[in-house]
This record gives sequence, structure tokens and C-alpha cells, in this order.
Amino acid sequence: MIKRKVLLNPGPSTTTDTVKMAQVVPDICPREKEFAGMMKKLRDDLLKIVHADPKEYTSVLFCGSGTLNIDVCLNSLLPANKKVLVVNNGAYSARAVEICSYYGLPCIDLKFPFDQSPDLSLIEKALRENPDIALVHATHNETGTGILNPIRDIGALAHKYGAVFSVDTTSTLAMRPINIEEDNIDFCMASAQKGIMAMTGLSFIIGKKNIIEESRNYPKRSYYCNLFLQYDCFEKTGEMHFTPPVQTIYAAIQGLREYFEEGELAKWERHTRVFNAIHKGLEELGFRNVIKKELQSGLVVSVIYPDDASWDFAKVHDYCYERGFTIYPGKISTTNTFRLCALGAIDEKDIVNFFATFKDALKDCNVAIPIRYNDKEA
Ligand SMILES: *Cc1c(COP(=O)(O)O)cnc(C)c1O
Repeated sequence: MIKRKVLLNPGPSTTTDTVKMAQVVPDICPREKEFAGMMKKLRDDLLKIVHADPKEYTSVLFCGSGTLNIDVCLNSLLPANKKVLVVNNGAYSARAVEICSYYGLPCIDLKFPFDQSPDLSLIEKALRENPDIALVHATHNETGTGILNPIRDIGALAHKYGAVFSVDTTSTLAMRPINIEEDNIDFCMASAQKGIMAMTGLSFIIGKKNIIEESRNYPKRSYYCNLFLQYDCFEKTGEMHFTPPVQTIYAAIQGLREYFEEGELAKWERHTRVFNAIHKGLEELGFRNVIKKELQSGLVVSVIYPDDASWDFAKVHDYCYERGFTIYPGKISTTNTFRLCALGAIDEKDIVNFFATFKDALKDCNVAIPIRYNDKEA
């Protein structure tokens, strides 16, 4: 048995032993038909997660972490002389803006406060005033804070103005139910270590075949990270253009098997149970959230540091880490925060156990319980 760790960071997440062990297989050359057949099934199963019609949508696998998907979508799906619009209310949308700047892609960085739902009328205004926007990119769950963005509405606006809509669903896909068509998504993405609870190193994009076909003649801005090139290779040979992460793919296949066994709704209910247990534990200690609960994605809780001279995140982290629980720093430049996430193969009981350890950590550091904040506001 492999020592079980409870990861409360925003991915990679806690995996089952069966997913871990699925990587231990006889050596195989990934150019064998047997391996291509496995990838075909994996790609078909990924479509099912977001209820994508295989006649219209395809999934394309890449070797790399989730950021690669954002890179691929932005650099591959923008026609010449057109603009990208990024709906930016957090660290992952800011990353998309940064990717545009590295490729020199014309980009409208439409910034919104990190703790608020983006103003749809301002998105519409940007689309109306810039008819050359061909690609709109947004983040579903801004993992840095845990805010959930209204992708269905943003997608509807993108389509109203004739733009393609790409959504970073890395921290929702296979957790919070997504219906690609109803949610107005042309392209979404994730990596194997988050929702499908498998290993790092495999990422995938699910999107409209006809748009990928059309992008064949768009400016080629990357070789390794070109969407059409990888798609075309899968279509013609059933293989990745270059060496795939073989063992990681075995783990992902097992992860998907377990995903379908658990079921979309049961899995989302489990994540919700974990999320509610996190809130309960934090409330009992007096911690405050960064994002109003009704705006949260149900997967990431961003917590404000207490005003207590004894509070030391690193110390609390190390205390918990030594006892099998991993907590994670925040990603907001203006506020000191940490995060507790509901991803992975964990349940309510793990959170109850975590809070027992976390409370001990606070006591060990002489942090006052309940937690103190200097202002009175609840
Ligand atoms: C995890 C995550 C990514 C990918 O991050 P990597 O470090 O490249 O794996 C991208 N977008 C969001 C919203 C994420 O949560």
C-alpha cells in the first residue's frame, strides 16, 4: 500500500491506489496499434465528460501541464489581423494575457476585480467596439481565488459577435458538470491531474472540429503547440505527433474508468460535501473568505490570513504537511491568503481529520482561536 496523502492544493490532487498502480504496465512502444486504440477510447471518453457530440467535437491530447492548453488555444485559433479578448479577473486569465504577449498576439486585456463576477455589459461593449475580436478567452473557475465565472453568458456574447469562445476549465472539468453545447463553449481544456484524478503530464483540449479544420490556414506561431498539427496527426494516424506520456495515459484511462463508475452527479456531490466541510471547519475557527460564498466555484476556498502576529503560514503548512495534509498559498497579489481545495479522491471525513490537525497546528503556533481580524466586520 502506498502512503495516502490528502492534497488540499489546487491540483495535482489525491489519487486512488488503482490509478497509481495503473502506471505499472509492461513496456510498450506507443507507436503500436494497441496504444493508438487506447488513446482513441480515451479521446472518446473525454468528450462524454462534457457531453460533446462526437460528430461536432473532438479531443486532442498533448504532453504537458495545463498551461500548455491555454498556449495552444490562443496561438492556434487566432486568424491573421484579428484580436483576442481575455476576460481577466484572476491569475489564470492574467496568464492567458501573458501568453498573448509572448506570441505578440493583439489582445484586449479586459480587467475586472478579482472578487467580482465580470460585468457582462462591459464585455459586450468591448465586442461591439472591436469587430476584429475573433477569439474570446475566459476562465471557468479562477483557481487563484475560487470565483466561478459566468461562462455561458460570456460564450453567448462571444457568439453574438461572431467570435470563437475558449474556456479554461482546467479546475472544473470532470468535477463541476459542464455541457459544452449548452454552456456555449467552442473549446475547453484540462489536464489529467485535476478533475479526472490521474497523473501530471497529460493535457487535453476539447473543441469544435470545423474550427480546428479552419485554423489549418491561420498563422503558424508554434510548432510543438499547434492545435491543427496535433489534431491532424490524431486523425490520420491515431497517434500523438511526438512521444506521448505513456504511463500517464494508462493512469488517465484508469482515472476515467473510475470517473464513470462514480458518475458525474455523485462525483460533484462528493466535491460539494468536501467543499461544505471545508467551509464548516473554517467558520468554526472564525476564518474569513476572500470571495463571497455565492460566487464561489464550489471547489476552491480562498482564506484571508488572520491578524495575529503568531500566524505563520509556512509553519502551519509544515505542521500539516508532516501529518499528511497539504495546504496551499493564495494567488492574489494584494491580499495575504491561503487556499483549501475540494479536488481529488477525498471525502468529508478527510476534511474533518484535516481540521483536527489544522487546529493543533494553530495551537502549536500560538494563534488565537477563534481567529482574530482587526476590523469588526463579520
Ligand atoms: C491548474 C490550472 C492550470 C494549469 O496549470 P499548470 O501548472 O500548467 O498545470 C490552468 N488553468 C487553471 C484554471 C488551473 O486551475
